[in-house]
Amino acid sequence: MSTPSARKFILGLDLDGVVVDFYRALKPVAATWLGKRTEDLTDDFRYGLKEWGLLDKVSGAGGYDLTYPLLHKHAVNQHGIFKNADPIALAPFTLRRLSRLGVHIRIITHRLYVGGLHGESVTQTAEWLEKHDVPYRDLCFVEDKLSINADLYIDDSPKNIEAYRAEGRPCIIFDNPTNRHLGDELRARTWDEVYELVAAAHGRAQG
Ligand SMILES: [Mg+2]
Repeated sequence: MSTPSARKFILGLDLDGVVVDFYRALKPVAATWLGKRTEDLTDDFRYGLKEWGLLDKVSGAGGYDLTYPLLHKHAVNQHGIFKNADPIALAPFTLRRLSRLGVHIRIITHRLYVGGLHGESVTQTAEWLEKHDVPYRDLCFVEDKLSINADLYIDDSPKNIEAYRAEGRPCIIFDNPTNRHLGDELRARTWDEVYELVAAAHGRAQG
């Protein structure tokens, strides 16, 4: 039990690829949008999904550009992906356990990176968190995740994990193919493993 004098222990929590099974929800949407079959899209993908045939930027060639931002807009607007994606197994359940332990859950997400979608993105996010009974104290929509303080972070994006590491901030890597080159230090493959790592860090912080 935390006491009024106990220090608050903050978990900085990424959503997509950590709590929300974003890539699994995106795959059939992407396949249809790209004119492919779902089974033709590999599960061994990297950040940006070039392996599925997506481009980073508009090519300027005048053709129909299959860029990730355009797919993202389609997935949010036409498929309500932030509302309809499934959670990663045991994520909401485990977050409720951690909250009961006294962990302060601070969601840190970069979901507003495509313009023109902010209303939908924020609304769908709040609805999803309610629907799945995810406890949280703060909900931060930011690009610069380092601007948000936490005692321990969890993320799956190589860019964010490397940024946290460069600043000496502990970050649990939630395992997926985009981050396997980053080593096994503080890596969790399941939410049971996340619980063990967070509960241990929380216990050390409480002394
Ligand atoms: Mg993520």
